[in-house]
Amino acid sequence: KAKEQTGNKYQVYSPEIEDRSLESIQLENDLYKALDQNEFVLYFQPKVDTASNTVTGAEALVRWKHPKLGLLAPKDFIPLAEETGLILSIGEWVLQQACQQTKTWHDQGYSSLGVSVNLSPQQFNQDQLICRIKGILEETGLPSHSLELELTENLIIHNTEKTLTTIHQLKKLGIKISIDDFGTGYSSLGYLKDFPVDTLKIDKSFIDDITTNPNNAAITNTIITLAKSLQLQVIAEGVETKDQLDFLIEHGCTLIQGYYFSQPLEEAHFLKQPLRVINNN
Ligand code: C2E
Ligand code: MG
Ligand code: MG
Ligand code: MG
Repeated sequence: KAKEQTGNKYQVYSPEIEDRSLESIQLENDLYKALDQNEFVLYFQPKVDTASNTVTGAEALVRWKHPKLGLLAPKDFIPLAEETGLILSIGEWVLQQACQQTKTWHDQGYSSLGVSVNLSPQQFNQDQLICRIKGILEETGLPSHSLELELTENLIIHNTEKTLTTIHQLKKLGIKISIDDFGTGYSSLGYLKDFPVDTLKIDKSFIDDITTNPNNAAITNTIITLAKSLQLQVIAEGVETKDQLDFLIEHGCTLIQGYYFSQPLEEAHFLKQPLRVINNN
């Protein structure tokens, strides 16, 4: 019996587990250096207005070109960045890059392009947020109405007082606010009447089986109707198939983001996309 116990105990300290924690410590060390070493890169995924057949803008999505592990997706390092507080400096880099790139596109003649940037709760709640964003807009010369911030519902329902103040300050600057992953948070709809948001973004999880799951079809229709009644924009994310596209257009959602049109692309490829039919004015 004693032997078995020893055996069990030994398993707890298995090399496999030690390896894994070493790996995550290593990743954390790497993350601290990643900004200095210029390892982050922004991808841009087009948002398409199917009514006018134009690209209205792009969502900026961060990736990490890790020297050894290759291209890492946000899910592989954003949680670690949040834990360590590094999300503040990474987030600021993302904002700066997104605004600068979009201003460059404007200067190349695509002046109607907007850009959306995801904000993590920590980033949104930092005291210097407004000041920092103002600085980035001034420095890059991007008009504030070309910048949209994507916030999640859970961020909005916590600490509503401060959140409301911040959103009002952002709106005063002329920045747009979008509710990302709409419908997936634990929120009541009540906040929508108090918060000056511009756009609801229907989560991919509803879109995935929209043509086969009547519940998700009903939820999607309800979100579209809600947005129209409140005079908000509505966009669907994660649209991959023609069937999904047809359903959405038929039910009045004409703003689309998803692999059906394009995956997120590096800047160099964004302008070359065949789908681009932007009014060049
Ligand atoms: P999100 O803001 O909801 O972004 C949409 C995600 O869905 C992106 O994943 C995008 O590549 C993916 N996507 C878009 N269309 C399709 C599709 O048709 N099919 C499939 N399978 N996926 C699609 P990504 O780039 O991996 O980002 C995941 C999440 O990481 C984002 O979700 C966002 O919450 C977060 N994130 C990304 N960039 C940033 C950033 O710069 N800052 C912060 N704080 N979070 C970020
Ligand atoms: Mg987003
Ligand atoms: Mg989303
Ligand atoms: Mg999502």
